[in-house]
Amino acid sequence: MRIAVQAENDAIESRVAATPETVKSLAALGAEVTVETRAGRNSAILDEAYAAAGATIAPDAAAAVKDADVVLRVRRPAAAELAGVKPGAVVLAILDPYDHIDALQSLAGAGVSAFAMELIPRITRAQTMDVLSSQANLAGYRAVIDAASAYERAIPMMMTAAGSVQPARIFIMGVGVAGLQAIATARRIGGVVTATDVRPATKEQVLSLGAKFIAVEDDEFAAAETAAGYAKPMSPEYQAKQAALTASHIAKQDIVVTTALIPGRAAPILITAEMVRSMQPGSIIIDLAVERGGNCELSRPGETVVTDNGVKIIGNLNVAGRVPATASALYARNLLAFLKPLIDPETKNLAINWDDEIVKATVLTREGALTHPNFQATAT
Ligand code: NAD
Repeated sequence: MRIAVQAENDAIESRVAATPETVKSLAALGAEVTVETRAGRNSAILDEAYAAAGATIAPDAAAAVKDADVVLRVRRPAAAELAGVKPGAVVLAILDPYDHIDALQSLAGAGVSAFAMELIPRITRAQTMDVLSSQANLAGYRAVIDAASAYERAIPMMMTAAGSVQPARIFIMGVGVAGLQAIATARRIGGVVTATDVRPATKEQVLSLGAKFIAVEDDEFAAAETAAGYAKPMSPEYQAKQAALTASHIAKQDIVVTTALIPGRAAPILITAEMVRSMQPGSIIIDLAVERGGNCELSRPGETVVTDNGVKIIGNLNVAGRVPATASALYARNLLAFLKPLIDPETKNLAINWDDEIVKATVLTREGALTHPNFQATAT
């Protein structure tokens, strides 16, 4: 079995889908691994390190995928990057399938079985494969580091001979995987931290991290979590009460990190332009939901907006990719964990159980067609 690791060509992508550590593990499973030259360049991994782990270095994308049974990627490959790929080869990547049916059809046309890593179900057996969690955790961490570096003041309380410095007030909106890590990071660097969410289960988590929980805790809040553990879209009445609470709290905050998402929908707007106007000059908003429309009315994808009243609203893209070496290490381990059960330990070849719950949830294309039920209606 041959496994190819391609370099990422998207300018915003700094991660890589395998590390020397996972190359060794893949070789131990019986694979011959080929890595495209300079694939690890932005994650502090040189070709020599891959070669020392047992990989062959290929001069370009086409040479990497030649005869490959499996192609490992971070982002969805363009058709040209898969030129010459073997029909039936397995492609693992974050495929970003919604609104990209044409690109999926092109993958189907290439004859590959393409698996969307972001669709891995959040069941216990799949925890080690959960790329959403591994990357969201780092995004939450990096968001606070980015905020601290853009903030013109010190974060922790300091008692000095020249007088004392007040600690920064940091507010985390949305307490999923990213939000929890943002709270922990903000506490570690000395902020006074508050956090909010619509799911009641988050209250105890916030308190256990030493932060204060701020939320409208009415009957709707008590029932805001779906069976799958996600937030429900809230009613206009709840949103109005939440906005009033946020408005009074946010005016006193120095740094706000927003992470609120609802699966399959645009991100909810939690910070209006009026709320931004109430903030002090030098305050920072980091909008981690910016790629899904944003939690702040004024945030722009990939841009830092500085308002007339001196508030910086930072809309960095691919925030996990701003910690590329760590993000790659965790992503690569997620892919390894996903791939292992697809390989027969005896023959050391792919032996995919197409009826497996995790396989069914993630495979989008197979044998030349778009096969995932969620994409059938739009497939032609
Ligand atoms: P997410 O990225 O979908 O959303 C981030 C947070 O935003 C969530 O906590 C959500 O409740 C919150 N939110 C949504 N609308 C909001 C609003 N209007 N105001 C304030 N907050 C709002 O969430 P996630 O990080 O993917 O985690 C979702 C859940 O899945 C959590 O309970 C998490 O613990 C759970 N989870 C389970 C597993 C597993 O079992 N393997 C793995 C990862 C996460």
